[in-house]
Amino acid sequence: MTKSFYIDNEECIACGTCAEICPDCFKFDDSMEHAAVTGFDCPMDLVQEAMDNCPVTCIHWEEAQ
Ligand code: SF4
Repeated sequence: MTKSFYIDNEECIACGTCAEICPDCFKFDDSMEHAAVTGFDCPMDLVQEAMDNCPVTCIHWEEAQ
């Protein structure tokens, strides 16, 4: 099952690391104030790696309800 996740835009410092690690699901360019999630169809281990390398730990798994 695909897990979903989100970026806390208030916390994101726009470093671009997540998009470098997992460009299929994260997008960032210099015109953006924060990174964006573009989809959930990517390897979950890469998403976890992006989370682990986010300097402000603002990428979170969406809790299943
Ligand atoms: S790694 Fe974290 S702080 Fe950096 S752009 Fe991605 S979400 Fe924002």
